[in-house]
Amino acid sequence: MSRVIPTDNSLDNLTQLFSRRGLIDHLRTSIKHPDNLGIIYINVVGFRHINHIYGHDLADDLLKLFARILKGLVRQKGVLARLAADEFIIAITQVADLHYMSTLVERIDNAFRQPLLCQGELVAMQLRFGMSANGAAPFCDDCPIESLLSQASLAAQYARSQDSSEAVLFNLEIERQLSRHSRLRHDLQMAISKQQLYLLYQPIIKTQTGDICGAEALLRWQHPIYGLVPAEETIAIAESSGLIEHLSKWVLANCLSWLRDNESDLPFGFRLGINLSAKLLESANYLAFCIEQISAVPTLGYALEFEITESKNFDNDTRVNDFMNALHALGVVFSLDDFGTGYASFERMQSLDFDAVKLDRSIVHMADQSSAGKHMITAIVALLKPLGMTIVAEGIEGNTQMDTIRRLKCHEAQGFWLYKPMLAGEFHALICQQTS
Ligand code: C2E
Ligand code: MG
Ligand code: MG
Repeated sequence: MSRVIPTDNSLDNLTQLFSRRGLIDHLRTSIKHPDNLGIIYINVVGFRHINHIYGHDLADDLLKLFARILKGLVRQKGVLARLAADEFIIAITQVADLHYMSTLVERIDNAFRQPLLCQGELVAMQLRFGMSANGAAPFCDDCPIESLLSQASLAAQYARSQDSSEAVLFNLEIERQLSRHSRLRHDLQMAISKQQLYLLYQPIIKTQTGDICGAEALLRWQHPIYGLVPAEETIAIAESSGLIEHLSKWVLANCLSWLRDNESDLPFGFRLGINLSAKLLESANYLAFCIEQISAVPTLGYALEFEITESKNFDNDTRVNDFMNALHALGVVFSLDDFGTGYASFERMQSLDFDAVKLDRSIVHMADQSSAGKHMITAIVALLKPLGMTIVAEGIEGNTQMDTIRRLKCHEAQGFWLYKPMLAGEFHALICQQTS
């Protein structure tokens, strides 16, 4: 095997591993055929924070230590490179079978489960792994090495997006999902101005009378290529790309405008539920926007409800309380959404001033299950009742569920079996039909 004499830019100065250029040159001369090549891509999660917390000096030493340990684990079986501060490559040149690569990843993962001792500090490192090898997916014949490197990088990006510590092997579906994600992320910025977003309204009824007493506003995005994008995906993209505040302001403004236009037709005590991303509870900017918008037509505050999902944890209950107090003063109420999917924390219910609780679909569906399930839902409602909150049952999909919810005297109900989410105009017509 011919050896490449490292030139200046073929080595990474810090770790003395190959640089990207050095690795590619080395592989080009040493690999007879890309069939023999497998790539493991290692990403150190949150390395930026390590730099920030411990300083560059320690972070540099940590990377050197990391590279040394990695070398010991890989030994003669592969070639190591550092592509960027937090990106390492192991090119397996001798036994490029997937079983060997997976076992190696497991060994590396185990080795870094314990924090490393560096300059007297114990520093934890979290790793994400992507792998690529010939046969797992087709690659570009002109530049097979670059192709395999970028495939492994995409696989690691996917592992990061899934928060998975298991190695992800590149395939075409991963590429498709990542490219959809980047496209949506890019397009969301313009979705509002291009009028691709709209709201559906799902009616909520009083369980004892069947009358509509409110609705939940649900976001929809009609994307020109991908069609209807699920609300949860849109929200996740908005949260991770810093667009959530902009988007949520649009949702609130739209809901208020719908309430203003239809105020005279709404039944007494009507509430329109708006889902609130937990991230915004700590945003002074968003709170100021809410106060300004709601104060413009003071009666509308009494027709608004903010739903906060239980599955998200809040960092700062005091801030959240301040947010809730400020809006409570304008008549807005708050509900704890998806109860039963998160911590079902009674402590949180006590410390935060919720007016209503929405039982998640998974709890409501216990009504159809074993007798243990039925006992469970009965017990959950019995526990919630004395807290004096309005209990709303979500996701009613059938008769038995509705009967159970009625028998347990939950106050309100929502679900496809009652009404599906509908367009604003349709919902308005439905209300007018009820009040006429
Ligand atoms: P959620 O707040 O729990 O909203 C209820 C979800 O359950 C809605 O899904 C609704 O269409 C669905 N649903 C209602 N009844 C039934 C039923 O009987 N069976 C089943 N299987 N599903 C039912 P959707 O619209 O896809 O929204 C999903 C989640 O996305 C919402 O869950 C909420 O957390 C979030 N979301 C929606 N719109 C917004 C928004 O404007 N802002 C924020 N921050 N989140 C939103
Ligand atoms: Mg909700
Ligand atoms: Mg819910």
